[in-house]
Amino acid sequence: MPDRLPPNSIIGVFGGGQLGRMTAMAAARLGYQCHIYAPESDIPASQVSARTTRASYDDEAALDEFARSVDVVTLEFENIPVEAVRRVDAVTPVYPGANVLEICQDRIREKSFLNGIGIGTAPWAAVTDLASLGAAEARVGRPAVLKSARLGYDGKGQAALRDGADAADVLASIGADSCILEGFVDFACEVSVMVARGIDGEIATWPAVENRHVNHILDTTIAPAGISTGVASKAEEIAHRIAREIGLVGVMGVEMFVTRDDDLLVNEMAPRPHNSGHWTIDACLTSQFEQLVRIVCGLPLGSTDRHSDAVMKNLIGDEVDAWPEILAEPGAYLHLYGKAETRPGRKMGHVTRLKPRGGRG
Ligand code: AMP
Repeated sequence: MPDRLPPNSIIGVFGGGQLGRMTAMAAARLGYQCHIYAPESDIPASQVSARTTRASYDDEAALDEFARSVDVVTLEFENIPVEAVRRVDAVTPVYPGANVLEICQDRIREKSFLNGIGIGTAPWAAVTDLASLGAAEARVGRPAVLKSARLGYDGKGQAALRDGADAADVLASIGADSCILEGFVDFACEVSVMVARGIDGEIATWPAVENRHVNHILDTTIAPAGISTGVASKAEEIAHRIAREIGLVGVMGVEMFVTRDDDLLVNEMAPRPHNSGHWTIDACLTSQFEQLVRIVCGLPLGSTDRHSDAVMKNLIGDEVDAWPEILAEPGAYLHLYGKAETRPGRKMGHVTRLKPRGGRG
């Protein structure tokens, strides 16, 4: 076990969105302070944190000052430039490290890593131009999804390649030099598993949950997922294996497709708290956010047991206007992110509705 950081230590957090905000709230409960580093002007995490550095990720002086002013660093966004992470890590440890981010920031490296450790994904091929798109199509077939290799989220940087579509148009619509073409998975449902791994290698998972998307954005998470015990255990084992093989220190969301014949294909890994883990705040003994704080401070992992089943609904755009009615609902836990401006597609908050715990997991 590494040295424990005592309460009142300062946790640096790269990124200032709602994930950073909820991490800072969990840190505060355990007596830690957070120092947020983010370039944006509207920083939800700052409202609940002791200190903020508002600077770009290539501001070397600001990064050095940040590194010296904190005891450990974590992140709430996997696309923090690895150069920034390495620079800070030379002074103060950053968890998860640059090696994990490098894999998760690039879909080609991510899928190669997964397949390399024997984990199934949709069939895929790297694409850099029209010729390689043709070769990829020959392998993957249509329908397929073309995705930019880097910086895509919530369906951004993605386009469907359907029968009859012009490949050149679809490639131009992505506008990226490096892409992957993925076979379209006709899935029965989408699930994810949150996994946590400590500095000493201890691993814990929360039960697999089902995720439903609307317009490519997570809308609802059902915990636990309504899948068989066998498939759920296999999903949890996959997340376990990924955390171990990648050398995760922190928490990670692993998104998977459940195929119609109960196979599991990993879609994506996010080495940070994940939207599909928000339900753990209200329904589990230890939330994903508290677990991250425990891990980076060298504390023992908390129990991931759940005391209730839960349905988490994101409040996207003006859905947040329903907050007074949600507050009046028994068994509904409202979380608002303090964002100044409501915009279509923007995650403004979420509500977790608890139910008595059922059988599985
Ligand atoms: P991603 O940005 O890769 O997480 O994709 C966002 C969402 O698009 C997923 O959660 C799925 O609902 C859908 N999607 C992505 N890739 C595929 C695929 N290969 N086949 C079917 N649906 C997909």
